[in-house]
Amino acid sequence: MLPPIASRFVAGESPADALEHAREVNERGVSVILNRLGEHYDERGPAEDDAAAYRDLVEELANTDVDACISIKPSQLGLDVGDDTFRELVTDLVDHAADRDVFVWIDMEDHPTTDVTLDVFCDLARKHDGGVGVCVQANLERTRADVERLADVPGKVRFVKGAYDEPASIAYKDKARVDEAYRELLEYAFEHFDGGIAVGSHDPEMIDLAKRLHDEHGTDFEIQMLMGVRTDAQFDLAAEGYDVWQYAPYGGKWLSYFWRRVRERKENLLFALRAVVGR
Ligand code: FAD
Repeated sequence: MLPPIASRFVAGESPADALEHAREVNERGVSVILNRLGEHYDERGPAEDDAAAYRDLVEELANTDVDACISIKPSQLGLDVGDDTFRELVTDLVDHAADRDVFVWIDMEDHPTTDVTLDVFCDLARKHDGGVGVCVQANLERTRADVERLADVPGKVRFVKGAYDEPASIAYKDKARVDEAYRELLEYAFEHFDGGIAVGSHDPEMIDLAKRLHDEHGTDFEIQMLMGVRTDAQFDLAAEGYDVWQYAPYGGKWLSYFWRRVRERKENLLFALRAVVGR
């Protein structure tokens, strides 16, 4: 069972836990993106297992009134086994989800995976005329050109600052430079996209910028934040009428995800310590 210390960031171990969490969050006007924890499988078996688990989850989502979609990681669906394995498993899943009107996000991992992830996304987005989204990372120098190519592709694009420690030869390492790149990407997207923009950030400055760009260009957007991070802001933004999505991971492999959240910010570490000492 998931210990209470982890339940701020993880929506439980089972799909039933995750759906119950989604229902509670839906009641506050926030939609949910469910991610089954798991990544970097170097054998086909576990990747197939996760693909099957996602197909079951899609089936459940299609048969409930829960307002949720799913988000997968390429290395969870076989990318470390081979590009063809990933393409096969994700295509099968997206076809299955499209038939049931369930949206599928594809997370972006580190830079050696960018090309294949974008290629597969573009093929699936064109095949289904949307129904699928991909994440792009402002810390990579290549992203501006990628986003220009994505402007004509159906589907959604999630803009994030980037979670991976990339080489200085291809990435901005300075936080202020990453922020500047993020602002420039949003400015480009609100001007050139027809909609389908997801602002995947907890940064109040970036969310305010998105609101201003929406007022200026009228382009539709949604705000995405992680479960357990600025939860009150998620509910407040939804109450203001913005389209807010909470990314909620679930599953048995929660420990490394939980520690990543705790390590990335002092407040999260203090929260974890307080939970341990029971205060
Ligand atoms: P930061 O630059 O970390 O912080 C800026 C400001 O935001 C802070 O000064 C503070 O005001 C506020 N803030 C940030 N965190 C907190 C907190 N814990 N509590 C209170 N205030 C806070 N990365 C990938 O590489 N690939 C992905 O597929 C991917 N998917 C993501 C999906 C979602 C929905 C989200 C929200 C993030 C995703 N990320 C992904 C992670 C992303 O790249 C960043 O590492 C992460 O979001 C931190 O950047 P930030 O924009 O939130 O703000």
